[in-house]
Amino acid sequence: MKADPIGKGFGTRAVHAGQPADPLTGAVKVPIYQTATYQYRKTGEHTGFEYARVQNPTRRALEECITSLEAGLDAHAYASGMAAISSLMTLVRADEHVVASRNVYGGTYRLFEQVLDRYRLRVSWVDTTDLAAVESALRDETRLVFLESPTNPMMEITDIAKVSEIAHQAGALVAVDNTFLSPCLQRPLELGADIVVHSTTKFLNGHSDSIGGVLVSARAEDAEWFAFLQKSVGAILSPFDSFLTLRGIQTLEVRIQRHESNARVVAELLQSHDEVGRVFYPGLEDHPGHEVQKAQASGFGALIAFDLGTYDRAAAFLDGLEVITLAESLGGVETLISHPASMTHAAIPVEQLEALGISAGLVRVSVGIEDAADLTADLEQALKGASR
Ligand SMILES: *Cc1c(COP(=O)(O)O)cnc(C)c1O
Repeated sequence: MKADPIGKGFGTRAVHAGQPADPLTGAVKVPIYQTATYQYRKTGEHTGFEYARVQNPTRRALEECITSLEAGLDAHAYASGMAAISSLMTLVRADEHVVASRNVYGGTYRLFEQVLDRYRLRVSWVDTTDLAAVESALRDETRLVFLESPTNPMMEITDIAKVSEIAHQAGALVAVDNTFLSPCLQRPLELGADIVVHSTTKFLNGHSDSIGGVLVSARAEDAEWFAFLQKSVGAILSPFDSFLTLRGIQTLEVRIQRHESNARVVAELLQSHDEVGRVFYPGLEDHPGHEVQKAQASGFGALIAFDLGTYDRAAAFLDGLEVITLAESLGGVETLISHPASMTHAAIPVEQLEALGISAGLVRVSVGIEDAADLTADLEQALKGASR
C-alpha cells in the first residue's frame, strides 16, 4: 500500500489521495467497480458495501481525493453539477431564505427560480462583491448564502472570508460554487465557507467527456445529510464517470498551469486589441476584483469575458474561429467559446441580463491548453473578419 498521502503537496494528493493500490490485485489504478450490489459475508454481515446507490469504491476514491484537495471533511459525488446543487438546496426548508450571488451559472438561476420556487424557496439575488449589500439582504430566516466567485460570465469577485464571517454571524451557512477555479487555485473551506460545490464536468475532469458534480463539506452534519441524500434521492455519479474524473484530477495542477499561462496571453491580446471593448478577467490589474482575488486565491483562472459591441459582430467573430470551438461548457483541454446571452444565460429575462452587464455583444472564452500562438492567431483572424 502507498503511504498515506494526506499532508503532502497538492500535486501528490491529486495523484494519490483516496487511491491506494487495489488490495485484491495491486492494480495501480482504482478499478471501475461496475456492480449494482455486493455479496454479504453471511446473514447480518456485509463487507461495508451493500448496494451501489449507497456505496461504490470507485466513487468513494474520487470523493476521498476531492476531500483532500479541498481540505474538507468529506465529499459526495453526484450525477451532474446541477444534481449536486439540487442536493445542496435540500438544506433549505420551505419559507427559509437564501442569499445568492447575482449572475450565477444560468442553470443555478433556473433551478432556484423555476423549480425550487414550487417549494417556497425565497431567494435574494445580490451583488455579493458588495459586503454591505450582503449584510442588508440577510434575514432571520436566511439559511444559506450561495456564492460563485468568480461569477459567470462577468468575473465578479466576492471576498469569501468576509462574506462567511457576516453570514455566520447571522446564523447562515455559506456554500461556494468553486467550479471556475478548482481547488488548485482557490479553497473556500480554508477561507471559512461551509460547503464547496463543483461541476466536475469542468476543470476537475478537464477533458469535456464526463458530466458530474460534488459537494465537499466541512461540517459532519452536512456530510451525513449529503450521504443520506445519495441513498435517498439517488442522483449519484456512475462508476465510469467517477473513474474518468479521478483520472482527470491527477493532471489538474499541470493543466491549470498551462490554462492560466495561456489565459494571460489571451487576456493581454484582447485588452490591447482595437476591435475589442471591455475585457473582464480578474488577472488584469484594472479588474475591480483583482486585489481580493490575489489575496484569496493562488491564481486567476482561465475564463475571460469580452465585449464586441453588438450581437452581429459577436456572431461574425464566433463563426469565423477555426481552432477555438463554439460550445457551452468550460474547463476542458480545448478552448471553448460561447455567447452567454443566447446560450448559457438564455433562461434569464433580457432586462435582467442587461442589469447584470451581459450584453448582446458579450463573448466568454474558456482558454484551453493548446499552443498560445495558435490561439492568439485564431482570435486575431476572427476579429479581423468581424470588423469588415
Ligand atoms: C457547469 C456549471 C454548473 C452545472 O454543472 P453540470 O455538471 O453541467 O450540471 C454549475 N455551476 C457552474 C459554475 C458551472 O460552470
